[in-house]
Order: sequence, then structure tokens, then C-alpha cells
Amino acid sequence: MMNARKTFRINSLGHLTIGGADCCKLAEQFQTPLYALDEQHIRNMMRVYRNTIDDEYDGHGLVLYASKALCCTAICAIAKQEGIGIDVVSGGELYTAMWAAFPADKIVMHGNNKLPHEIEEALDHRVGMIVLDAYSEADLVDRTAAQRGMVQDVMIRINPGVEAHTHAYVQTATPDSKFGFSVANGSAEAFTAYVLQKKHLRLHGFHCHIGSQIFEKQSFVLAVRKNLAFVDAVKQSLGFEADALNMGGGFGIWYADDDAMIGVEGYRAYLTALLAAIKEECSLRGLRRPFVYLEPGRSVVGEAGITLYTVGAIKEIPSVRKYLAIDGGMFDNPRYALYQSRYTAVLANRAAEQPTELVAIAGKCCESGDLIGTQFHLPKAKEGDLLAVLSTGAYNYSMASNYNRNLIPPVVLVNEGHAEYIVKPQTYEDLVRNDVIPERLK
Ligand SMILES: *Cc1c(COP(=O)(O)O)cnc(C)c1O
Repeated sequence: MMNARKTFRINSLGHLTIGGADCCKLAEQFQTPLYALDEQHIRNMMRVYRNTIDDEYDGHGLVLYASKALCCTAICAIAKQEGIGIDVVSGGELYTAMWAAFPADKIVMHGNNKLPHEIEEALDHRVGMIVLDAYSEADLVDRTAAQRGMVQDVMIRINPGVEAHTHAYVQTATPDSKFGFSVANGSAEAFTAYVLQKKHLRLHGFHCHIGSQIFEKQSFVLAVRKNLAFVDAVKQSLGFEADALNMGGGFGIWYADDDAMIGVEGYRAYLTALLAAIKEECSLRGLRRPFVYLEPGRSVVGEAGITLYTVGAIKEIPSVRKYLAIDGGMFDNPRYALYQSRYTAVLANRAAEQPTELVAIAGKCCESGDLIGTQFHLPKAKEGDLLAVLSTGAYNYSMASNYNRNLIPPVVLVNEGHAEYIVKPQTYEDLVRNDVIPERLK
């Protein structure tokens, strides 16, 4: 498993390395718990998306890094250097991108309930595109743009009736989702007609996001076909021909043994299939080729990251299971608690040893559901061992909390063996910074 990955290697001391750095050294230098990211892996992933659009689609598109997967200023700075765009779903993500001096014209704003102040911020920063997801929102963006004497570029989030899950997809006639307008029941077309009347909105086309952690190429191909059938239908009925198509994100990554390890070439094959379906469907229907947006999040940063913990209390419940407790937990990785996510763990200081036992890894929060998982094959661990949980670059730091007033771990970026903070450690003072004791309680 280890040798299959470029990101994770074991050095001559039997220590796990990331981005050329010894994890034991990282733990010494930065303490645990610690998020570590391999910069080269992130850049390689951004490049494969960008290059495939260049090579297979004449560069007529833009990759948007879905910043919700891992949002901090340094990652925005990397995306900027790599010449890709960013998708944001809140005022806070927008603020982070702007703080990193990200070019606003390459920012796309999403969200199913954008707040008035978020829309004002988006327009004041001149974001390139807003993806509309409600009638009230179309009114609000139109009004806010009118106040500023602007016309805002927009797209519409539709629900093409393809719902993808890891290795399968289902076609749904009436999707039950808080996101998007259904194509099947006519609401997407009705909303399109509504938006087209707005004087301060310039409609470019449609967006869909069919799911996450998807491995099945055909789900994207099917979504492309359904979207372009809708584009064609709207062209016939409303005389509006979309010039842009946003296919969202959702490309799967490796977490554990039964996941595929796609690798850069594998992602290229996915995108090539998706872009080929767009080209083919457009020529079949006599549509002009739309500008294409892709919004990968997880696949850009997920496999690039690991979390390092120190093993603490070990508890064996005879004929039930053995728990290894770590100095982190659901406050830095809530994904098991939320979705029973699977992970792979390694004893980073003994990475060359064969696994000999099956253990559960527990966090330190006051919740019995605070686990990283229950099925980890490890050598017999002892207190003080360094535990690495792999593929934690996406939706870990970005979902972290201060539950139980635990401190959110810092993030280091590793490049050619050198590591530096991109998110500094929190302090106890940070925890009480915004707390107030009213006079009458003193
Ligand atoms: C979550 C999301 C993404 C990114 O999804 P990944 O599975 O992380 O690639 C992209 N676009 C939209 C609209 C999303 O909600």
C-alpha cells in the first residue's frame, strides 16, 4: 500500500515521510496533533485538471478549487500561482480568498442561502460569477447589482436527476435536495425564464454537482448528457443558448483498501471522458461548446494530507475491542462521527512493521461516538507512538471545531523535506478571545 503512493514513503529509519519530511521530525518540531500537507501533491492535482482542459478542450474552461475542502490563505495562494480559480460558499471563504489577493474574476460564489451581506461583499469584490439557487436570491442579486450600476454574471444551479454515490449512481425523477432546481419537474426551466428577465443579471448557463467521492466515470458522463439535453430544451423553448456549463466536483480519492488509487493519470482519464461527452453531445445537438467549469475539492487536497497524533491511553475490552486513544478526535476530524468515514492509519514511527492487530482509534472528546474509526490494522501500539491518519487533507481542518475547548491543530505545508506553518497553532487565549462576562455577572 505504501509503495503505491508517491506522497507516503518510509525512510531508512522506518519512519513515515510526507513531502520528503520525516513524520517523527515533524511531530518533534510542531507537536501533535498536527495536520501536514504535501504541497507538490496539491500542485500536481491542480495541474492535471488545468492541463486536461488545455489539452482536451482547447483551454476553453476554468478549474475552480472548491475551497470548502480546505480553506486557508496559503492554499488560495497556491491556487493563484497555479492559475486556477476558486469556488467559495460563504462570506468567510470569500474573505479568505481576498485576503490572499486572489483575482476576484476567477472566484465563483455558491450556496443555497447566500445572505444579503454576502452578496454585497461578492459584488463589491467583483467576483466573476454567482451561481443562483433561489428566486429570492435572483431578486437580491439583481437589486444589489442595480444599486451598484452593475450587471452580474450568473449561472443557475440545476438538478439534472443524477445522484452519484461512490461506485453507483441513481437517476431520480424528482430529486429531494435543498440544492438546485429540478429539470424533470420543469422548475429549472421556469427559473431560467425568470432570471432571463432580470436587467442586472447576465445568465451564462447551468451548474450541477451530482455528489461526492465518486469513482464511476459514467455518472459524470450521464450528468453531462442530461445537462446538455436541458441546454438544448431551453434553447428551443426560451431562445437562450447557454455559453457556460459547470459540472461541479465530486471526484473520488483513496481513503482505505477498497478505494481505488486513481493517480494523476487516472484523474486525467476521468476528465477526458467528461470533456469528450461534452464535445460529442454538443455536436450531436448542434450546440456551441460551452465554457466549462470543474470544481474539484477533495481530489485536490485530500490525499495530500495526513494528521499526526500521539497515542495515549490504550484500553482493551476483552472479547470486544481494543481502543487506542489519541490527542485529537472529532474536533479535528468529525468525519467518522458524521458519516462513518473510513480511513487508513499507520504508526508513523514504526511504519515498516507489519500490522498484527485490529484496533479502534478513539478521540479525547466526551462523546462515545468520538472515533476516527473501528477497523485499523496496526502493529501492537504503545503509549507515545506516533499515529498518522492518511488522506485527511480534505474536510478535516475545514470542519474542525473547538468542541470541549480543544485547540484546532495547526497546519504545516511540506515541500522537498521542508515544513512550515500555513495555519498557526491556536492558543487558550484564542478560546476566550470573544467571550464576555457582563457586568452584572461579576
Ligand atoms: C462540495 C462541492 C464541490 C467539491 O466537491 P468535492 O467532492 O470535494 O470535489 C464542488 N462544487 C460544489 C457546488 C460543492 O458543493
